[in-house]
Amino acid sequence: MKKKKKLYEGKAKIIFATEEKNLVIQHFKDDATAFNNQKKSVIDGKGILNNRISEHILNNLGQIGIKNHLVKRLNMREQLVHHVKIIPIEFIVRNIATGSLTKRLGIEDGSVLERPLIEYCLKNDELGDPIVSREHILTFNWLNIVELDWISKELLRINDFLQGMFRGIGIKLVDFKVEFGKTNENKIILADEISPDTCRLWDSSTEKKLDKDRFRQNLGNLVEAYQEVARRLGILHLESNIRPIKFSKPTAVKLKKNK
Ligand code: 5GP
Repeated sequence: MKKKKKLYEGKAKIIFATEEKNLVIQHFKDDATAFNNQKKSVIDGKGILNNRISEHILNNLGQIGIKNHLVKRLNMREQLVHHVKIIPIEFIVRNIATGSLTKRLGIEDGSVLERPLIEYCLKNDELGDPIVSREHILTFNWLNIVELDWISKELLRINDFLQGMFRGIGIKLVDFKVEFGKTNENKIILADEISPDTCRLWDSSTEKKLDKDRFRQNLGNLVEAYQEVARRLGILHLESNIRPIKFSKPTAVKLKKNK
């Protein structure tokens, strides 16, 4: 499949046209951003790991009937995906309270939720992706009620599957964000990567963070954490099959006192 002109460049991905109007190439960059683009860095190898992890997860979701945009992985950094019109909502599913939920509502960090909580954010960087209600989504016709209910059910199925998959490899699925899009035939499909960039993943026994919070919170060893997820999923065969990866403690920096 020939790569044609660039259609869109996002924070972590680039979309290229192909000869086929319904198919595009998604390129995973090594760029990491957080806090609405205020914190930026390039982390060698992150794109390759996200490409592999996301391919694995989307293929597995496809096998249980969750229609998604992945056609196939093309190479280390690229996937062939269905061209969709992205619905302007970020769908967040939470199993454990942390991140913006704890800040917004004062819920204790780490509280296990009685049932999965779905939140909706408007995809708008200038406004800082504000949280919106179901009523907003219906009032502004971002989705109709049938579509919204269908997506909500799909989100719970995705969450169930991912929770089980990660539980099996000693990881707690804390929360995740996904987007959906409409195909040319007006069918709604899952149209996003699912990776440690878009999920919060905690080691089940130590609660060590194995996701992008390592970047957001300056914890270091981000690539090692993503490799650990890939290794446990069985898609990377590193020497660490024998030796578990050791996370070095973040080095303490002594600050000079202002005189
Ligand atoms: P929070 O709202 O607590 O910051 O994030 C909830 C979940 O959604 C986390 O797993 C986080 O990684 C994911 N998430 C929310 N917004 C974004 C975003 O703009 N980009 C990415 N990659 N993930 C997001």
